Amino acid sequence: MSAPDCSGKPLRPVVNRSKCEGKRDCVEVCPYDVFEVRRIDDADFAKLGLLAKLKSVAHGRKTAYTPKADACLACGLCVTACPEKAITLVFSG
Ligand code: SF4
Ligand code: SF4
Repeated sequence: MSAPDCSGKPLRPVVNRSKCEGKRDCVEVCPYDVFEVRRIDDADFAKLGLLAKLKSVAHGRKTAYTPKADACLACGLCVTACPEKAITLVFSG
């Protein structure tokens, strides 16, 4: 039940893993429990550039995933709260 924009497509949060430092602000602020912070998947880690890999390791390979993205109501709180500007809301569907 994602919030639709005027064209009817739902907005969902997308995390830039090159920027995310796993600081959990998004987990704390989202009213709908969209996010979880956990160890980055090996496939996602492999896609990072060298500097982003080093940064990821420095932060314990923690990153944010969106297991409940369908619950997003596009309030924007996570976008504002993320200290790394790693979250964008994008149209899906
Ligand atoms: S997306 Fe932003 S707020 Fe969420 S864990 Fe990553 S850096 Fe923190
Ligand atoms: S936009 Fe709002 S509802 Fe959607 S993931 Fe971010 S904080 Fe949660």
